[in-house]
Amino acid sequence: MSDCIFCKIVNGEIPAAKVYENEHVLAFLDISQVTKGHTLVIPKVHKENVYELTEEVAANLFREVPKLANALKKAYDPIGMNILNNNGEHAGQSVFHYHIHLIPRYGEGDGFG
Ligand code: 5GP
Ligand code: ZN
Repeated sequence: MSDCIFCKIVNGEIPAAKVYENEHVLAFLDISQVTKGHTLVIPKVHKENVYELTEEVAANLFREVPKLANALKKAYDPIGMNILNNNGEHAGQSVFHYHIHLIPRYGEGDGFG
């Protein structure tokens, strides 16, 4: 989708701090870190929300989540991690290209939740 900011990141039209990339998936740091290491993982193909994911797209995406969570744990040494996804404006979705948030947690006062 030409006006989608995450498609532009996938296509290299706008920069992002990439954490991981393969044929199907891109992970990059959230521009507005709710905690240190806040990362988004997205399918390279444009899918607006969970309702649009095919089993194949979901499998290619979710396969990477444990590896990414472990990489973030190793890099940032958090004491916990929230992994979440917002679907629809009323659920807090603001970018309409499916994405999973990985939010490392550091204890009380870490800025999230
Ligand atoms: P949502 O609210 O849709 O669940 O999450 C969208 C996330 O995308 C937000 O946390 C926001 O900070 C992040 N975001 C929005 N625009 C950009 C951008 O251009 N680059 C990066 N790296 N993150 C972005
Ligand atoms: Zn997109």
